Amino acid sequence: MRMIPDDFEPEEWERMVDRFADPGGESALYPETADNPRDLPCGTCGKPNRLTGKDKAQGYQCDQCADRAEGKPFGIGDY
Ligand SMILES: [Zn+2]
Repeated sequence: MRMIPDDFEPEEWERMVDRFADPGGESALYPETADNPRDLPCGTCGKPNRLTGKDKAQGYQCDQCADRAEGKPFGIGDY
């Protein structure tokens, strides 16, 4: 169970947890669930088990590729 950050209402946070693999973070990826396993390769870098079926349906790429596409050096996530 993840702690709820101070700047989110519990209900708001629950919605984000249902929708985002990294709620409150920068990732747009969906969380892995029994119905939506993270077992698909990234279409950009080809690394296995990076995307869920929903991610693929949205045309998402993995977090590393998304960061690179936004011009961020790997490993630096915060501005
Ligand atoms: Zn990738």
